[in-house]
Amino acid sequence: MGAVLPQSVRCEAATPYLWVMLTPPDPTYHDMAWFKRQSAGIVTSKAEQNETPEGYWIKCPECEHITSQRELEDNLNVCPKCNHHHTMSGLGYFELLFDEGKYQRHDAHLHSADPLEFQDKKDYPSRILAAEKKSGLNDAVVSATGTVGGNPLSVAAMDFSFIGGSMGSVVGEVITRGIRRAVEENRAMLIISQSGGARMMEGALSLMQMAKTSANLALLAERGLPFFSLMTHPTTGGVTASYAMLGDFNLAEPGALIGFAGPRVIRETIGRDLPKGFQRAEFLVEKGFVDLIVPRHSLRKTMAGLMEQIFESSATSLKSPASNGRSKTKKAAVKAK
Ligand SMILES: [Zn+2]
Repeated sequence: MGAVLPQSVRCEAATPYLWVMLTPPDPTYHDMAWFKRQSAGIVTSKAEQNETPEGYWIKCPECEHITSQRELEDNLNVCPKCNHHHTMSGLGYFELLFDEGKYQRHDAHLHSADPLEFQDKKDYPSRILAAEKKSGLNDAVVSATGTVGGNPLSVAAMDFSFIGGSMGSVVGEVITRGIRRAVEENRAMLIISQSGGARMMEGALSLMQMAKTSANLALLAERGLPFFSLMTHPTTGGVTASYAMLGDFNLAEPGALIGFAGPRVIRETIGRDLPKGFQRAEFLVEKGFVDLIVPRHSLRKTMAGLMEQIFESSATSLKSPASNGRSKTKKAAVKAK
């Protein structure tokens, strides 16, 4: 009812529209530089001027240096100005690590069930589906085998983009299968961690992955095969409390936050200020929790060097088709240098 206007008002409103429709095209139209600002006095706010397409430019959280996404990716997601290590995807680590970027992926078909029928803001299956769409992954870990410097390696790399790299049943299963593969094929094992901890939507089932992965790592140790744990930013909660800290070599990326509970929770619990650099990789090397800090640019070289030494010193226990294959590829790798 309120939409009916008096006749005069309707006519006034319609007039400018009709004028536009009936006016012939301006003959000077083609000579006009329409993209040039014709009138002065149009002010664009500073905030709008700085607006760029999301994801194209990345601001370093440490030094605030702005880099294009492309430039950052070319530099292995490491800030070219201050060496801050931005998060890298699991698949990115595979490209970086394996000889000639060649590897075989495993267990990309495993998906989480919903045994607890968990629901918070949305139900767990919807959350999983959204995470799968966003990340292009089946869960928060990817697994592959290949060679590094000619040495056989099984890698499970976590991915923070999938529900904060949380450790659910699929993460536990994929890591376990990766370890079993290492045992069966005489490979070294590397787990790259980046995780907020356990996946609360799976409750106790998530916590059981700590025991499951740790028990399988014991099998690897029985076979005398090395386990490398690389902790990247952040490695926390149940992941730190299980496989991340069980490495024969506990490696960490520069500046990575590594701990069980976060610094804020600890500060509030003990009611005291924490020392500078608390829970950072450099602090943990000082305290003996971490063996070595490995910058991303030297990860491949460091892994190849460590494996070389171990496999050569324990050559007798590693005589298998896999290790024979290793020596062949090793020659090729040396040539490539
Ligand atoms: Zn920076």
